[in-house]
Amino acid sequence: MVGGGQGAYIGHIHRLAARLDGQWQLVAGAFDVDPERGRTFALSQGLDPARSYGTWQEMIAAEAARPDRVEAVAICTPNFTHYPIAKALIEAGFDVICEKPLTATLADAVALEQLARDSGRFVGVTYTYSGYPMVHEARVRVAAGEIGAVRTVQVEYPLEWMATAIEQQGNAQAVWRTDPVKNGRGGSIGDIGTHAYHLAGFVSGLTLDSLTADLATFVGGRALDDNAHVMLRYQGGARGLLWSSQVAIGNSNGVRLRVFGETGSVQWYQEQPNELILTPLEGRVQVIKRGAAGLSEDAQARTRTPPGHPEGYLEAFANLYAGFAEAIRARAEGREPDAIGRNLPTAWDGLKGVAFVEAVVDSAGATDQPWLRPVAV
Ligand code: NAD
Repeated sequence: MVGGGQGAYIGHIHRLAARLDGQWQLVAGAFDVDPERGRTFALSQGLDPARSYGTWQEMIAAEAARPDRVEAVAICTPNFTHYPIAKALIEAGFDVICEKPLTATLADAVALEQLARDSGRFVGVTYTYSGYPMVHEARVRVAAGEIGAVRTVQVEYPLEWMATAIEQQGNAQAVWRTDPVKNGRGGSIGDIGTHAYHLAGFVSGLTLDSLTADLATFVGGRALDDNAHVMLRYQGGARGLLWSSQVAIGNSNGVRLRVFGETGSVQWYQEQPNELILTPLEGRVQVIKRGAAGLSEDAQARTRTPPGHPEGYLEAFANLYAGFAEAIRARAEGREPDAIGRNLPTAWDGLKGVAFVEAVVDSAGATDQPWLRPVAV
């Protein structure tokens, strides 16, 4: 692992998720931007002192020379570091699990995706919401035509944690997220809009054609957007609306997706992740529970406990890790992966996310917004 040291957020979740199914072992790491703190943290995790590295450069050089070298490296650092770290790892022959957004700039994302393709290395991107079984169930049902051709997609990712200027009070996670160099050009849209964008495309099966966006920065002194509204036009004519917000008070983690087709709709809400709502035209609202009989192979493969015993965020993250392990193993064995190793977010999805952010920021900054018209009264 790179990043995810003392006091960091997502690295801890990666460690828990990776361990859940016994498919991964954490054996080496450069966990912190401060080498000494990183080594101390590695020791606190029970790592071999010889594999408790001060920097990721040291780690790559030393691991590449070991007969028992690590198989893959998880990158859990701020966005602007993803590209140099991932590039160096791929060039040294390691598979990569990278946090989103894939990179801080589009040029880096294009280069990284190309490198991943040319090298044949596995690059998984942790779009968490595509780890949930009921999100897979929704995807399968939409693809099977259960709601007919998709007309419109409504997706939102509201959070409240940046409703005040916490970056000015030294909140470690907010400080780099509000720095355009370290974060990239898109504030809320890069940080959480990319999750929403991926989720919408994943379930609907639609490919985005174009967009128009309205970004706002509500908290004084903040350099990047903390609220975004984006109108989406998908290939084939479907429409969409995406909202990401870091200032939506009352929402701890309110990811919500609704997909409306010609003959029905599906809805999923991350704070009730064990349920998928399916409504056929003129039919009854159906609550489909995780673990129920007759669910798709895709959902079953990502389910551990019977219905009624809730699963959630950690299990969804673990599903990604189990999937990445299966994809890597299948490649080594020259076979098709089992269900859990299919439909995973990879470098291509990461690149699409960064391209989306780029288009949103360009759109919002354009002086000729065609839809921005004054209202008469
Ligand atoms: P954080 O600030 O909490 O942690 C970053 C960690 O990286 C720290 O331990 C820091 O010391 C370390 N670090 C920084 N530069 C380093 C370097 N050069 N070498 C080694 N370690 C270094 O950040 P976070 O909130 O955990 O976010 C990290 C990444 O995860 C970001 O890309 C973010 O977008 C992503 N993220 C994803 C999700 C998700 O749902 N998938 C959730 C939160 C964050």
